Amino acid sequence: MTQPLRKPVTGIPAEHHTLHRPLMARRADLALTATLEPEPQIPKLSLSDVSLSYATNSSGHLVALKNINLQVQSGEFLCIVGPSGCGKSTLLHLIAGLQQQTSGEVLVDNAPVQGPGTDRILIFQELGLFPWLTVAQNVEFGMRMKGVPKPERDAKIRDYLRLVHLQQFKDSYIHQLSGGMRQRVALARALATEPDVLLMDEPFAALDAQTRDLLHDELERIWAETRRTIVFVTHNVREAVRLGDRVLLMTFRPGQVKREYQIDLPRPRHLEDVHVAGSAREILDDLREEINKSLAEEYGLEASA
Ligand code: ADP
Repeated sequence: MTQPLRKPVTGIPAEHHTLHRPLMARRADLALTATLEPEPQIPKLSLSDVSLSYATNSSGHLVALKNINLQVQSGEFLCIVGPSGCGKSTLLHLIAGLQQQTSGEVLVDNAPVQGPGTDRILIFQELGLFPWLTVAQNVEFGMRMKGVPKPERDAKIRDYLRLVHLQQFKDSYIHQLSGGMRQRVALARALATEPDVLLMDEPFAALDAQTRDLLHDELERIWAETRRTIVFVTHNVREAVRLGDRVLLMTFRPGQVKREYQIDLPRPRHLEDVHVAGSAREILDDLREEINKSLAEEYGLEASA
């Protein structure tokens, strides 16, 4: 019987995930056996002992993230859940290069992040679409900034609008579209710049349930077709299990990795699947503890188990 959800050891440091062996030992093996061993894969993203503190008004500081160790493989779909204020957005901003950690290391393809780059793109709930541009022009925008030549831009506008099923709306303005369609424009715009990594910050939180279901299907299909690496932040545990290869649960402040869950359920999945619901329930039990801590701190309530 397949185990739908595996729960590894709590708070595993990043180095425990790596499968590296000393180079010398590998060479010796090769010489002796002449068998080709796959090279250990360099993770797409790697965070080692990453902490970040914000200065507060009272000349103190708030530790938003503490000793985060995390690796994301190329093509992986990682979901991050945690109570509000646990540092999920901050973590995405670090990977996007929009903020800098106080200590530790953030690597993309083994190189330190030194600011934003076209290899990573952040999509958030507010979308940041331009109301004075048409759908096609919005999709074109990032490519223009990147200096992509016009014929190539036109071809990609066609391809990516087809991918999100919005070809017929290419000349519409943003106010003429539904919330779900706007999300798909934002997705097409992000994909058109062909980033390796999509960072998604609660992108579907404001949508109605039916639209969100459809977008889950679309995103899963697009991810399967394009094999991008996705880091998806949500407060909705079921959504995380529906979409993720792995779900990372963070603690309330300071944000740390509390636990990781490998989600081995077959795809395509659905929010209403009994296994999705069962796995989500398990994660929710762990999350509830952190939510109680956050309520206790923010509302001065007694934390309950
Ligand atoms: P989440 O996305 O999990 O809700 P955030 O990453 O937005 O959490 O924030 C983590 C913590 O850092 C919160 O307590 C928040 O109030 C604080 N914070 C976020 N941005 C700033 C900032 N620019 N200055 C000071 N504190 C901040």
